[in-house]
Amino acid sequence: MSAQLLDGRILATKIKENLKMQVLSLKKLRSSIPRVVNIAIGDHHAMCAYANSQIKAAEDIGIDYKLDVLPEDVSQEKLIEHIQTLNQDVSVNGIMVHKPVPAHIDYHLVANHIDVIKDLEGVNVVNIGKMLLGKTNIIPCTPAAVMAHIDSTGISLRGKEVVIVGHSEIVGKPLSLLLLQKMATVTVCHVATSEAGKLAEHVSRADVLIVAVGKPELIKGDWIKKGAIVIDVGINQVGSKMVGDVEARAAQARAAYLTPVPGGVGPVTVVMLMKNAIEAFRLQTEKK
Ligand code: NAP
Repeated sequence: MSAQLLDGRILATKIKENLKMQVLSLKKLRSSIPRVVNIAIGDHHAMCAYANSQIKAAEDIGIDYKLDVLPEDVSQEKLIEHIQTLNQDVSVNGIMVHKPVPAHIDYHLVANHIDVIKDLEGVNVVNIGKMLLGKTNIIPCTPAAVMAHIDSTGISLRGKEVVIVGHSEIVGKPLSLLLLQKMATVTVCHVATSEAGKLAEHVSRADVLIVAVGKPELIKGDWIKKGAIVIDVGINQVGSKMVGDVEARAAQARAAYLTPVPGGVGPVTVVMLMKNAIEAFRLQTEKK
C-alpha cells in the first residue's frame, strides 16, 4: 500500500476559489469587502514568512489585509489600547495578534480584549466557550485545516477511533471538541502518555491519527494502523529540510492517506484564517 498524499496546496486552492466567490457576492450585497488586521510584535523572520502567506491568500481571495508591526518592547497597556482602537474602528472586521508574543505580554489577557465578533482566530474565551457548545463558525485555524483535510477524504468520522498526539491550546484541545461533534471516539495523548510508555499502543489503534507535537519523527511508521488517515501537523527544521512529527516514508507504506510536510496542513491553515475573516464580516454587516 502507498498512502494517497493529501496535498494542502491543492485543497487550499479549492477552498480559496470558493471563498473568492463568497467575497464577490458579499461585495455586491454590502458594497464592501472584509478588512482584517494582524498585529505582530517585533520584526522576526518566522513572523514575516507567515504574514507573507497571509498577505498572498488575502490578495487571492479579495480580502483587505493589513499588518501592524509594533516594537518588541511595546507595553501590554499600549497593545491593548491598539486592539481597542481597532475594535472601535467599524472599517476593521477581523483582528489577530501574532504568536508567540514576547514574555512580558500575557497573551490570554490580550486575546480577551479582541472584540468577540472580530476575533479572527477564535482565541477569545467567549469564542472558545461557543466552540465547546458547537455554536460558532469562528474556529481556530489549524484545527479547522485538519478537519478540512479529513473531510476531503470523504470518510465519515462517526464511530472512528481518532488519536490526537499533542494537547496544546491551539491544536490538540480545540481539535478534540471538533472531532467529538462529529461523533468520533477521541483519545488525546501528551507528554505523560509517552512517559508512561503508552504512545505506540494508542497510535496503533487510530483509524485517524493527528500529530501536533513539534518533535521530528516522534511517531514511528510501524506504529501506524494499516489504512489509517494520518494528519501530520508538526513542522520541524532538520538541517536544510523541513519534516513533520511522523516518519513519513514508513507511514506512507501503511496509511491510506497522509499529509505531507511541508505542503499539508500549513497552506490550508492560512486559508482558514480568511474563512474566519469572511464569517466575521458577515456577522458584523448582518448586525447593521
Ligand atoms: P506546543 O504548544 O508546544 O504543544 C506540543 C504538544 O505536544 C504538547 O501538548 C505536549 O505535551 C506534546 N508533547 C511534547 N512532547 C511529547 C511527547 N514526547 N509525546 C507526546 N506528546 C508530546 O506546540 P503546538 O503549537 O501545538 O504545535 C505543535 C507542532 O505543530 C509544532 O511543530 C508546530 O510548528 C506545528 N504547527 C503547525 C501548524 C500548521 O499550520 N501546519 C500550526 C500550528 C502548529 P505537554 O504539554 O504535556 O508537554
